Amino acid sequence: MADPTLIFFRGRPHDWLAQPPLASALQTFETALINLALGRYPTTLVLTVSALESLIKAYRKTAAPQTIGADGKKVRDEYLLKLWEDLAAEKDSKPRTAKFPRESVEKLGWKRNRMVHYGYSPEDDMECVERLLDVGFPLFDAILADCFDFHLGFHSLHPTASTPDELSVTDRAKCGLLLDYASEWTKVFALRSATKDNPSIRSSDCFLGLAHRIRRYIQPTFTSLAEDAMSMHADEIGTKFDQVEKRLSEIKSQFRESWVSDCQYCNEVQCLVLEINFPETPEKVTVSRAACAHCDMIALSAPVARILFRENLRSALPEIIKAYDLTG
Ligand SMILES: [Zn+2]
Repeated sequence: MADPTLIFFRGRPHDWLAQPPLASALQTFETALINLALGRYPTTLVLTVSALESLIKAYRKTAAPQTIGADGKKVRDEYLLKLWEDLAAEKDSKPRTAKFPRESVEKLGWKRNRMVHYGYSPEDDMECVERLLDVGFPLFDAILADCFDFHLGFHSLHPTASTPDELSVTDRAKCGLLLDYASEWTKVFALRSATKDNPSIRSSDCFLGLAHRIRRYIQPTFTSLAEDAMSMHADEIGTKFDQVEKRLSEIKSQFRESWVSDCQYCNEVQCLVLEINFPETPEKVTVSRAACAHCDMIALSAPVARILFRENLRSALPEIIKAYDLTG
């Protein structure tokens, strides 16, 4: 049998095929991410809990400990909770896993069970987003780090790193996700901690960059050969360029001061418009909004744009300072 395939990972946990169901846990997590990119938050939560259970079982190499209820039946509701409690009891060697409040893990499991049995409605969306942000995803990250020395983003390797360049060579080798996805994964949690108490920011905006990057990855799957050929033809005869230029002007007209840079999501040059906030000193230049004229990556709130486009600003800053004569 060929090795299991992964699409968003560059690395694999050590000896992963000898630890079933570890490969399946990672594949289920990838399917959760694809559902996240499509805005299917309840399904993302269901898959993430399933991936969490598989991950712990892979480490324990046993089935889950089970509670027997008063009626003599197995208490399935506590499946994730029991697995987690068993692991969190070893808090000295599993510090990241043990730090989650028991109640938060219990509620995550309950939420999954209720939706698996009774379905879900749009009312469940925001609760699922918040449980994923605060427990489901960081717990998956924590268990991978504690039990398999395997890391999804940069923050569990280097708390302040936001790009792979800030990691040592050894740490970079432990980073499991492809670096572009690892970078977006790190930003999800940076956004959550910066915006959690800000009622004007939707919790789902924390997924903006990660979801957009995944949609760009799956988009060609849904493009027909004819559509592909039409797009190439538009590129050859210049209409694609004209359309991007038109969109670029529209975006610029809505932003106060703008700076155009390359877009890291569609890899097109000079199509991402950053709205620049003018400061008293060059160190205080910030991005308040951003939109790509080519791939429609859009961030319209300052706390979100600041984090998602931090590197764009960092690399453009010397030119911005020169162009606007901000040297003081
Ligand atoms: Zn773009």
